[in-house]
Amino acid sequence: MPTAESVWEACLVVIRDNVSPQCFQTWFKPLEAVTLEEEDGFSKLTLQVPGPFHYEYLEGQYNLLLRTTLTRVLGEKNRLYYEVVVIQEDPGPHETHNTYQVPASDSVVHHTPVPQPEATAPSAVKSQLMENYTFDKFVVGDCNQLAYSAARAIADLPGGTAYNPFLVYGGVGLGKTHLIHAIGNHILNWNSDKKISYISSERFTNEFVQAIQEKKVQTFSRYYRNVDVLIIDDVQFFGGKEKTQEEFFCVFNELQQNGNQIVLSADRPPKEIKGIEDRLLSRFCWGLQADLQPPDLETRTAILIRKATEIGLTLPPGVIDYIAQNITKNIRELEGALVRLLAQATYTTQTIDESLAKVALKDFIRRPHAMLSIDRIQRLVCDYFGIDQNRLHEKTKKREIVQVRQLAMYLCRELDYTHKAIGLQFGGRDHSTVVHAVKSVNNLIETDINYRNRVADIRRKVNLLT
Ligand code: ADP
Ligand code: MG
Repeated sequence: MPTAESVWEACLVVIRDNVSPQCFQTWFKPLEAVTLEEEDGFSKLTLQVPGPFHYEYLEGQYNLLLRTTLTRVLGEKNRLYYEVVVIQEDPGPHETHNTYQVPASDSVVHHTPVPQPEATAPSAVKSQLMENYTFDKFVVGDCNQLAYSAARAIADLPGGTAYNPFLVYGGVGLGKTHLIHAIGNHILNWNSDKKISYISSERFTNEFVQAIQEKKVQTFSRYYRNVDVLIIDDVQFFGGKEKTQEEFFCVFNELQQNGNQIVLSADRPPKEIKGIEDRLLSRFCWGLQADLQPPDLETRTAILIRKATEIGLTLPPGVIDYIAQNITKNIRELEGALVRLLAQATYTTQTIDESLAKVALKDFIRRPHAMLSIDRIQRLVCDYFGIDQNRLHEKTKKREIVQVRQLAMYLCRELDYTHKAIGLQFGGRDHSTVVHAVKSVNNLIETDINYRNRVADIRRKVNLLT
């Protein structure tokens, strides 16, 4: 009895003889045989395909080859199905892998019509959208209100608002990917016929490069110029990729002229994106740009409560508060903290309370820098250079003392003490003395490698204590 693998192996031998090595590597090597089943007297082979574009490409270019090959290997009574994989570009703690099944379209060599599958998977999957990145799951606060409202407006009327393109930008883990998926999911919910394509700019680039190598740029272009909504994540990766930018520029223009919606994300404001042609950059700014800011305390609290509820966890208010107060940078970290906490509780079978949270999250939470007092920093630096701490307060102009004092001031400044506070604790000096000290140290760091190494060494010691 042949297996899916053995049948596919036999097919590959035939295919290899019929296509270029490059084409074989790109389009056929990545396919995997999943199952070989009997269905109404037919042998049904299911192949796993790495993504929707890959699938469309195979269907468009190699359908005949595949069907002929399969008939040679399995006989006339065969059926070919694809299981198309949808991978989350940016793995979070949630599911990262989805598939949907489609039959290969019928072809001349196949005499019996291929039945339509009873239920095709929702088109959300087909468009590479993560189904759980929806508007309902997006917690709104001051930090993301504008971007959220604009996203909703666009989702209600894609291509029909002035926000075309819509560019959302902001730092890592602030919800860009979530928000742009939510737009796509919402549109599909109301109109499942819409052709929506979500792709990261990195993947867009890779597919384009492959298309060039295969001399199939037209197929590539046609695919992306014919979508109703094109969502491209992390456009900063287009920086420096001139050919891809050129292609994207054309896709962009065509979509815009036809009133199709373009949604983009970037990790910084468009002006700061490096290596992107002016004409493309200026187009990014034609519609609306909205930024996502780090979440404030209230939003962090709301997000934690929401996420905990989603995973079936009720956290005591003290624990929520502890996390919200201490993990401030981004939302992905908040999620990470929750997952870690849950793991720790499960592992130790302890109930979740503040003391468990403190243990579980010690790697996530840095103690505030201010815990290290100015006095402590002075002592550390003086020990390092082997001088008496009191000498820092003297009014001496001795070079070696001045240098140590300036460096200690500099390190205090790095830990966010104010110029004024530092001046006061260094023998009541004026804040301008501290400003000058910081400048001098910066100059030395830039010009003197030995000095720079010494500072790095001391900084390591300081960091160990913070
Ligand atoms: P980015 O693309 O900006 O790096 P993501 O969209 O991947 O960030 O968000 C990181 C994680 O945080 C995701 O799991 C996402 O669901 C979650 N997240 C981000 N913003 C929000 C929000 N406002 N409400 C709820 N979850 C959010
Ligand atoms: Mg992202």
